[in-house]
Amino acid sequence: MKSMVKYLVKNNLQKIILQKIRSRKYIIEGGNTMSYKKEAYAKMAASIIKNLEKRNMEGYYYETGAECTKAILEAIPAGSSIGWGGSETIKEIGLMEAIHNGNYELIDRLAAKDPKEARAIYAKTALADYYLMSSNAITIDGELINIDGNGNRVACLIQGPSHVIIAVGMNKIVTDVESGIARVRNMASPANAIRLNKKIPCAASGHCHDCLSPDCFCNQIVITRRSGHEGRIKIYLIGEELGY
Ligand code: SF4
Repeated sequence: MKSMVKYLVKNNLQKIILQKIRSRKYIIEGGNTMSYKKEAYAKMAASIIKNLEKRNMEGYYYETGAECTKAILEAIPAGSSIGWGGSETIKEIGLMEAIHNGNYELIDRLAAKDPKEARAIYAKTALADYYLMSSNAITIDGELINIDGNGNRVACLIQGPSHVIIAVGMNKIVTDVESGIARVRNMASPANAIRLNKKIPCAASGHCHDCLSPDCFCNQIVITRRSGHEGRIKIYLIGEELGY
């Protein structure tokens, strides 16, 4: 009888825990209640989406990268030509793999065998139906902050491809442009520089030295404060920490 009671209590407890996990109210991870963070992300995303609207850009929010990838794939018609800018986020959420395996014309900038071919691929990318990228940072007020060494990514964001799809983890949200630039130069660039084995000061020290090195990442600093073309730029916010 005693063991039966024990079994029922244990079973009931398990059921309650499972229900709570399913309702996403009490997901415990490393001792933290992640649901509060997710709830805060969702509320902040709602404000950002509103602010993007006034800047002629569309915003969406997904709790997970997988949900976001599914939504992006549904938004891109089969057969579309697709170019992309360097981004860890679009790889991490599985978007690049899905595009590679999907029914699209992928314009693969990594396929270039020499600078001449790279130029030809870039010309094609500039006229693509869709361009995929992340943003280095986004302000709560809806400004996009992007820093680029080559400039190909920011050039395509500004003009060229018919549609620009931007996937961004909520870890890249900042309060203002200044803190966004500081975030990119002191958080994203050092990690990227180490990943790419670049001989630049932030790779050595882990923070920005405002360098003018030959390999400098920070040649172009672009703030997108408004889109001039309705429906061209779509921002997919994701309630996860993604990219750098
Ligand atoms: S300016 Fe130079 S040191 Fe600073 S983040 Fe950019 S590449 Fe790194």
